[in-house]
Amino acid sequence: MTGVTKATHQDSVTVVGNYMAGKHCKASGSAGHKVFNPATGEVTAYVQYATVEDVDQAVAHARKAFASWSEVPPIIRARKMNRLLALMQEHKQALAEAITTEHGKVLSDAMGEVERGIDIVEFACGIPQLLKGDFSDQVSTNMDNWTLRQPLGVVAGVTPFNFPVMVPAWMFPVAIACGNTFILKPSPTDPTPSLMLADLMQAAGFPDGVFNVVQGDKVAVDALLDHPDVQALSFVGSTPIANAVYQRGAANGKRVQALGGAKNHMVVMPDADISKAVDGLMGAAFGSAGERCMAISVAVLVADAAEQVMPLLTQRAKQLRIGSGMVADSEMGPIVTAAARQRISGYIDAGVAEGANLLVDGRDHSVPGYEDGFFLGATLFDHVTADMKIYQEEIFGPVLCCVRVDTVEQAIELINAHRFGNGVSCYTRSGGVARLFNRTIQVGMVGINVPIPVPMAWQGFGGWKKSLFGDMHAYGEEGVRFYTRQKSIMQRWPQDMADGAEFAMPVAK
Ligand code: NAD
Repeated sequence: MTGVTKATHQDSVTVVGNYMAGKHCKASGSAGHKVFNPATGEVTAYVQYATVEDVDQAVAHARKAFASWSEVPPIIRARKMNRLLALMQEHKQALAEAITTEHGKVLSDAMGEVERGIDIVEFACGIPQLLKGDFSDQVSTNMDNWTLRQPLGVVAGVTPFNFPVMVPAWMFPVAIACGNTFILKPSPTDPTPSLMLADLMQAAGFPDGVFNVVQGDKVAVDALLDHPDVQALSFVGSTPIANAVYQRGAANGKRVQALGGAKNHMVVMPDADISKAVDGLMGAAFGSAGERCMAISVAVLVADAAEQVMPLLTQRAKQLRIGSGMVADSEMGPIVTAAARQRISGYIDAGVAEGANLLVDGRDHSVPGYEDGFFLGATLFDHVTADMKIYQEEIFGPVLCCVRVDTVEQAIELINAHRFGNGVSCYTRSGGVARLFNRTIQVGMVGINVPIPVPMAWQGFGGWKKSLFGDMHAYGEEGVRFYTRQKSIMQRWPQDMADGAEFAMPVAK
């Protein structure tokens, strides 16, 4: 796997470019965007941004490839997916290392990310079964009616920095297995894994033009949204951009699913296994430095759960092992960029100014030997209230806000009033509480004693409210529906047809 273009910047740092029609190629835009190793602060590459013309070229290649790829029998597409599945397993470690190098998350977490991406490839291997239509025999005398699902054409995916392998894998395996051709526009923050995926797609035998990558940011995304030959676009990222992408795509007549930001709560009931709840909070709040759309950023402690949870949580947050993601015993790596670290620190300042009780302050954390890395420590606030900025906004960092309420009903009301509705969790031993919670919570993905309920590959992923713009969730059967359209066919033969024109609405006879 090369993973990147051969070009180098003037100071010999790798330049990351596009991939189209089966080849790595230079993009035509500026090559000024720096990729960092967040653990060391070093620049490891420059991303060269695609221009509108580059996007046009990628679409033209994808469109050309669609003509033949859409005619390939699903079982043969599935066999190529099977080959990709084997290759991704084989290169799991290399993919995970590339993630850790550019994103910063600990290697074991990066391995988990790759594994969850591979799950979707495995799901896509079942595409012949998933594309089966419905057949109705004899809808009228000697007439049959059936439906089939056909691919859309060229489709695109725009992905965030926080899962550079898994989130693209929510999209392209399903889209391509359905018979579409695909253009990925990854985050410029960690672009290398996208090109490694391109190499694996080629090695798996997918024809040139079926999978393409364009680098960049708004210019490339807008070009995809405006291009008449792009039929659909899947987006995952922050809510303001998701909303804008959805609106622009929809205004251009495209099918769009745009997954946005989050503020995920975990309710801890007094009857919960408190030690397990604290374990759940630690992993879900501070895993991947809180840079997961399913990270828990609010703990809602019901009645005397607070007295049980807070001392343990404070102690555990202070003891969190923070270091380079490549160091085996690190539990949390650095923040992705210096700018993101500054933004998160600003939220901690705001929480203090708003009067929340700062129990653990991560602002001045430094890691010996990695003084130039973008590290922050775990941060814990108690007595956070719903009117505070740190409660309302997505911080996307290792900051856990604890809110105290008296009853489960109050917890549900609080969560339902929040504008985000991505994931939520409730720790309890009560079946009654769990049932009430599951049925009444206004959130798309729910965990009972599961802190991060990311649905499996065949179930589909998506939040509610401002966490998703569009009708269909990512991957699973919803993904197959998103990337195909239904055609209904009615058929009969001349010997069974009566003579003469029919002017009345035809009915079953
Ligand atoms: P982001 O919104 O900044 O960027 C996402 C993508 O949009 C990137 O590819 C980026 O290049 C592109 N982009 C940025 N500005 C744009 C613009 N003005 N017009 C068009 N495209 C633009 O998000 P991020 O910082 O990379 O990722 C973190 C965010 O993603 C968080 O809000 C997180 O909650 C969210 N996220 C959501 C999910 C989910 O499933 N709901 C999953 C992962 C991440």
